[in-house]
Amino acid sequence: MARYTGAVCRLCRRSGEKLLLKGSRCFTPKCAIDKRPKPPGQGTSRRRRRFSDRALQLREKQKARYTYGTLERQFRKTFTLAEKQAGITGENLLVLLERRLDNVVYRLGFADSRAQARQLVQHGHIMLNGRKTDIPSALVKEGDTISWREGSQKTEYYKQLAQEIESKTVLNWLSLDRQTLVGQVLSLPTPEEIDARFDGKAVIEYYSR
Ligand code: SF4
Repeated sequence: MARYTGAVCRLCRRSGEKLLLKGSRCFTPKCAIDKRPKPPGQGTSRRRRRFSDRALQLREKQKARYTYGTLERQFRKTFTLAEKQAGITGENLLVLLERRLDNVVYRLGFADSRAQARQLVQHGHIMLNGRKTDIPSALVKEGDTISWREGSQKTEYYKQLAQEIESKTVLNWLSLDRQTLVGQVLSLPTPEEIDARFDGKAVIEYYSR
């Protein structure tokens, strides 16, 4: 499955803000954007770059894509789906991205970052409604359960997680049984419940050209 394999901190620096792509490292002094806030390639220049509307729209679209770790083709597909749904396309897009299985695994606290969550799904550790699902872009719906494959529960990673899960918080639209590490989608998230790091309107404008 195709994915971005370059340096992820570079994506934050290019976007000009923290996209929190590296889990707990993002909250330490090692964060690259805290150390070098300028975009890559700008060196020590003090000149402020001016961005056209198009460039700003592109930046918002890229921020969304980087945050959820999708490549352009997949992102465009999700956008087309959002357009077909009733309501506001930008909000639909946000909810669709949040419904991705890898994102839900991350939101349940099973992984430190979405990239790690994607890996857990791709490696077949996660079950959706009791069936092994290795497609990170699978969309969850209300009532779905997310659990660990029996074999995966014997791994060191799982044992460590079972000890640490107590200190993790779960969003209102999800529930988590901390004994069995089984999560459930109580309801689909509303746009207000999602800490969006991009401007959905700008993404619509970008694609409407
Ligand atoms: Fe972005 Fe996290 Fe890297 Fe900081 S450490 S630049 S927030 S991915």
